[in-house]
Amino acid sequence: MTTLFLDKEKLINNIDITKKLAGSSKVIAVIKGNAYGHGLLGFASLLVERGIETLAVVELEDAILLREEGFECEIINLSPVYSESDIKASLKNNIVLSITTAECGQRTEKVANDIGIQAKAHICVDTGLGRHGFLAKNTDEIANLISSMEHVKITGIYSHFSTAAYKKDTNTDKQFKLFTDLCDILTEKGINIGCRHIAATSAFLRYPETKLDAVRVGSALLGRVPLANNYGYQPTGQLEAPIEDINIIPAGENIGYGYAYTTKKETKIAIVPIGYSHGLGIQQINDCTKFSQVPRFIFKLLKSVKSPRVFYANHAGKNYPVLGFIGLTSLMIDITDSDIQIGDIVSFPINPIFVDSGIKRRYE
Ligand SMILES: *Cc1c(COP(=O)(O)O)cnc(C)c1O
Repeated sequence: MTTLFLDKEKLINNIDITKKLAGSSKVIAVIKGNAYGHGLLGFASLLVERGIETLAVVELEDAILLREEGFECEIINLSPVYSESDIKASLKNNIVLSITTAECGQRTEKVANDIGIQAKAHICVDTGLGRHGFLAKNTDEIANLISSMEHVKITGIYSHFSTAAYKKDTNTDKQFKLFTDLCDILTEKGINIGCRHIAATSAFLRYPETKLDAVRVGSALLGRVPLANNYGYQPTGQLEAPIEDINIIPAGENIGYGYAYTTKKETKIAIVPIGYSHGLGIQQINDCTKFSQVPRFIFKLLKSVKSPRVFYANHAGKNYPVLGFIGLTSLMIDITDSDIQIGDIVSFPINPIFVDSGIKRRYE
């Protein structure tokens, strides 16, 4: 069976580094997208084991699943919920809600009142990402809403940066000032805003002054930082599968679909049950939405045609190249002169985000 191997020691190291760099700020661990492909429950267990006290998700279903699996820590849903049933389920499962609009707050207040459970929520503010949240300049709207909610306790307030990961960082300063000014005004009005958090991985590493009361970190915990990594973070992720079959192909024959590879000499091949459907060979291509981005897009495309990426399977510390194209569920590697047997396990390094959530995660 094809599985995704995740190195527990590396992940623990990443969690510990993050906690250390966070210093006196609390670490809110973001585990959206199946914990960035690492497996929601497996990674959540590791986080709790290492002393992380707050998990953040973006789907109510994930929050509820964590509760069903016995997680008792604080869980924040970073996405708003509007329907009565979703608000109810959040309250019954003691999930901290995100309030992103006045309407969202009023609905939460009503349901909390109806079912007699005090809601806990964080106020979400848009300081320049153009996604969820109250516009930071609408101080009165935020203050009035908070004061009007008797059954919703505000335990935090947050915003999210838009350019902190980019070389040309035009927004972080502005966003940080908008956010801290808003927090100060609300506090001056006598409103208890609780935990202030704005920094995710890039800002927390590049601009330690943005750490505030908590940092909301995802990528760093997985060792995948979008910056020069001088911190000791280590990524992990290897697709593993047993060799399914072995074959000898004479010289001058084709290997795989599309006539992409012809054997130069007699070649011993191994068939591995790993393909696109498992996430191998899938790449992130950043779309271009502005005409000025088109030349760079074309340049990257041409570069990838000129020097295509060759994939290597690893077995006992040795690399074996993939021959021809990767198929949907299988590929062929060149094992000429090796004594690899059917059933032997080979592996490919991979970013877990690309690995289908149906594939088993093995933590070890
Ligand atoms: C994804 C996300 C994070 C975590 O971002 P990283 O860069 O992976 O640390 C934090 N906050 C919000 C609102 C997010 O959507």
